[in-house]
Amino acid sequence: MSAERVAAPETVAGWIRESDRVVVLTGAGISTESGIPDFRGPEGVWTRNPGAEARADISFYLADRAVRREAWRSRAEHPGLRAEPNAGHRAIAELEARGHLSLLVTQNIDGLHLRAGSSPERTVEIHGSVREFVCLTCGERGPMEVALERVRAGEEDPACLVCGGILKSATISFGQALAARDLFRAQQAADEADLFLAIGTSLTVYPVAELPVRALRNRGRLVILNAEPTPLDGRAHAVLRGRLGEVLPAIVAAV
Ligand code: NAD
Repeated sequence: MSAERVAAPETVAGWIRESDRVVVLTGAGISTESGIPDFRGPEGVWTRNPGAEARADISFYLADRAVRREAWRSRAEHPGLRAEPNAGHRAIAELEARGHLSLLVTQNIDGLHLRAGSSPERTVEIHGSVREFVCLTCGERGPMEVALERVRAGEEDPACLVCGGILKSATISFGQALAARDLFRAQQAADEADLFLAIGTSLTVYPVAELPVRALRNRGRLVILNAEPTPLDGRAHAVLRGRLGEVLPAIVAAV
């Protein structure tokens, strides 16, 4: 266990000030205050419906038209497309604007960091984004709204207009590989981080959950901000448990 396990926002703010390379990793927990449920928190989608986790594998989507029809129906209603960024997203955008962020890696697919003002240059949406669709055969991409218009007009499982292939949101499902370039960039940033903030993530989805371990291995400090325990709490330099919409603005205000 690390020597310094202090949990005051001011302490973390001090570490941010004295760091040259701050890397932030966020998970579903930063978006719950925007009304998007997480997966494994007390009100999480998978906590309430454990069978949904098994059905999240890409093989079901490819094999079964009924799964795709259901997916398009729920995409058309997905709260992520209507949700607004919250104070936590805005605090991270401000950290970047004030020159204190090397890279933001988010596991979230809701696009809310970019809407809050984080720049595309310093943001890696490592699990993709629901704001675009992609063809699983030819790679054709486009804005999600274009595909959703077709769903609303009556196409239950819209096919690719270029090659006839299966369309899906441009997100990484279980069973799909991450984009190599995104993973490499995130790993390199974690290796070089002198401060790594893991925010609103249960740190259980690999290979992303390994990023903080890489930072520790290279002598970076690790701070975990999460309402519930994570497997890395015992190795973190500080753990903060408050609501992210309150804790993050308090930290950034003190930087
Ligand atoms: P997770 O659901 O496994 O863990 C989220 C954690 O956030 C929980 O431990 C919970 O206690 C904590 N949390 C929730 N609300 C909080 C708050 N207001 N303040 C402090 N902590 C809070 O999420 P994960 O680790 O990101 O892994 C889930 C996977 O699901 C990711 O790969 C992600 O791509 C995907 N996902 C994304 C979204 C989204 O885009 N918003 C939503 C659900 C799931």
